[in-house]
Formats: sequence, C-alpha cells, structure tokens
Amino acid sequence: MSRPPGAHAAPASVDRPTVSFELFPPRNPDAAPRTWETVRAIEQVHPDFVSVTYGAAGKTRETSRVFVSRLLQETNLDPIAHLTCVGTSRADTIEIVEEFLDEGVRSFLALRGDPPLDQPDWRPHPEGLHTAGDLVGLLREIETRRCAGSASQAVRARVRPLSIAVAAFPRGNAGTGGTRAQDVASLLAKQEAGADFAITQVVFDAESYLELVAEARDAGVVIPIIPGIIPSTDPGRLLRVQELTGVLVPTTLLEELGSASDDLDRHRRGVRAGIDLIKGVLDGGAPGVHVYTYNQHHAALDLLDGAGLRGSGARSSAPAAVLA
Ligand SMILES: Cc1cc2nc3c(=O)[nH]c(=O)nc-3n(C[C@H](O)[C@H](O)[C@H](O)COP(=O)(O)OP(=O)(O)OC[C@H]3O[C@@H](n4cnc5c(N)ncnc54)[C@H](O)[C@@H]3O)c2cc1C
Repeated sequence: MSRPPGAHAAPASVDRPTVSFELFPPRNPDAAPRTWETVRAIEQVHPDFVSVTYGAAGKTRETSRVFVSRLLQETNLDPIAHLTCVGTSRADTIEIVEEFLDEGVRSFLALRGDPPLDQPDWRPHPEGLHTAGDLVGLLREIETRRCAGSASQAVRARVRPLSIAVAAFPRGNAGTGGTRAQDVASLLAKQEAGADFAITQVVFDAESYLELVAEARDAGVVIPIIPGIIPSTDPGRLLRVQELTGVLVPTTLLEELGSASDDLDRHRRGVRAGIDLIKGVLDGGAPGVHVYTYNQHHAALDLLDGAGLRGSGARSSAPAAVLA
C-alpha cells in the first residue's frame, strides 16, 4: 500500500499536544502480524510520529532499518529511527546512518546505547563514538557533507530537514550511575551538538518530569522535552521496566493495581493512573506525550482516549466501559 495523498492532513489545532508512540521491530516472523496490527491501530489516531528502537550494540540493525523503511513506504506514519553508537566503530556508524538516509529516513533519536544485558564482558567499540552528543554531531556532519556533494540532496534537505531527537532522564540515568545534574549537562551538550528535541525515559510521576524541565531550562536547555509514558496496566511489566531502567514504580500505583478485582478492573485502574499522569505533565507545560507501547495498542489508545488526545478523525477502539 502506498502512502495515501494528504495522509498527513489529520485534523489538528496548533495547540493540540503532540502524540507519539514507541515501537520495536518485530522480534521474529511470528511476532510480525501482532506488530502490524498495532501499527494499523496506531495509524488510525494520526500520531505526530512513531519512534522505532534499535537493539543495543546494533543487534537489530537490519530489522530496525527494514521496519522503519516499511513504515515510511506502507503507512501514513512518520518514523523516527533510534540509533546507538557505543557498540560500533565510527566508520560503521557512518555506514548505518547512510543506509537510513538512503531509505528516506529524515528523523533520528541519537543515543549512546547500553551494553547488551546477556554479555557481561561486553566493551564499547575502541573506535566508536563515546556519547549521544557525539552521534548528534556526526549526524549533522554527514548531512552537511551529503548536501554539499549533491544539489538535489540539498533541495530535498530544505524540503524535509533532518530532525534529531535525544534522550533525557528525569531521575538521572541509573544505567550509567548518572545523576539528574549530570543528565542536564549531557542534555545541554546534545543541544549544542544540534539536537532538536528530547524524549524522556519513562516517568511515573509528573513532578520528576517537571523538575527535570525546570533544571534543564535553568541550565540553558531550550529544546522541547517530551515525557515518556508507559500504560500502567500490567504490574509485571512495570516491575520489569523498573529493573531495566532503575526508575522506581510508585508503591501507591502497585497497590492500586493489586487491589483490582479482575483484569478489566486492573486495566481500568492503570489507564486512570496514566490519564492523571498525562494531565499532570500537560498542565505543567509538556508539549506532548510519547507512549511506550511495547507493541501493544489497546492500553496505549485507551490512555489517549481518556486524556482526550485522540485525533478527531480517528475511530475509537476502546469499549466505553473500559473508561467508565
Ligand atoms: C527515549 C529513550 C529511548 C531509548 N532507546 C534505546 C534504543 O532504541 N536502544 C538502546 O540500546 N538504548 C535505548 N535507550 C537507552 C539509552 O541508550 C541508554 O540509557 C544509555 O545509557 C544513555 O543514553 P544517552 O543517549 O542518554 O547517552 P549519553 O547522553 O551519551 O549519556 C551517557 C552517560 O554519559 C554522561 N554524559 C554524556 N555526555 C556528557 C556531557 N557532555 N557532560 C556530562 N556528562 C555527560 C551522561 O550523564 C550519562 O551518564 C533509550 C533511552 C531513552 C530515554
């Protein structure tokens, strides 16, 4: 299916908060149908963009590229390709970036990347970049070189400028032992290297996001910072996220989910908690929300419905009872 003409003309007022989703490439052929079911459901709500994860140390280089390419060619979604840099040499990173650009990708989420969990003796590539800021700089450098070498490319770049997002960590980056102050310094460096906006690690409370934004603004960070939200309907998933990211799940949330009478009640309570969080960050001035879907759309879309963020042209997939 080709991109339908006018597909990006979703009804929207300029003040509508941005809505975006994180997806990961299907882990295997069996997972592909479910992933595409989610893609099709997400298309219906006309998000501003979707972001596609990239396996640590380039583990999903090919599947991420193919998935992003298919999203570009076969859907009306605007994909942002995540890209990590510590596991690859500078030369390989350049090749990977060129591959994405050749596919027509114009948006990246530039990341340093973490060691693969299953490789305790893993070491960063000795000829690799060291930080996400370095990767932002390299992306800008590659784009400048491509435009200088081709007038056609220079015109295309005027029409569809390269956009670079980066990560931010409201509670500091537990994975690297970094504090919030260090993350703000790193965010400033990413902005100076040419980042356009930031997406945060998962937040469970509006305060941590708002405090990060306040500290970042004091430090001179002016780029928009979008909070990352996870649908809080599955306590098991929340605890896995806590283990992976070091971001503590509030005990009040776990207790709320634990007191549910059945699955539907748990879903309803989790969606309600997510709606309150979305209202909190938007009331505090967030430009939008980025929803971590884990390639499952029901809870993510119920969240949007409840928060009143679904595009007006979209059909609802949520039974009204879920939100009652
Ligand atoms: C929204 C989001 C999406 C993600 N997607 C992926 C993904 O697809 N694949 C994946 O493998 N991982 C992903 N991650 C995880 C991410 O790669 C890791 O958390 C990684 O540890 C840090 O990434 P970074 O890009 O912030 O690195 P950096 O900004 O380079 O930071 C790494 C460390 O260096 C320090 N640092 C860097 N520059 C400076 C500076 N100038 N001054 C002071 N300190 C500095 C930081 O404080 C931090 O401790 C994602 C994270 C987020 C929040």
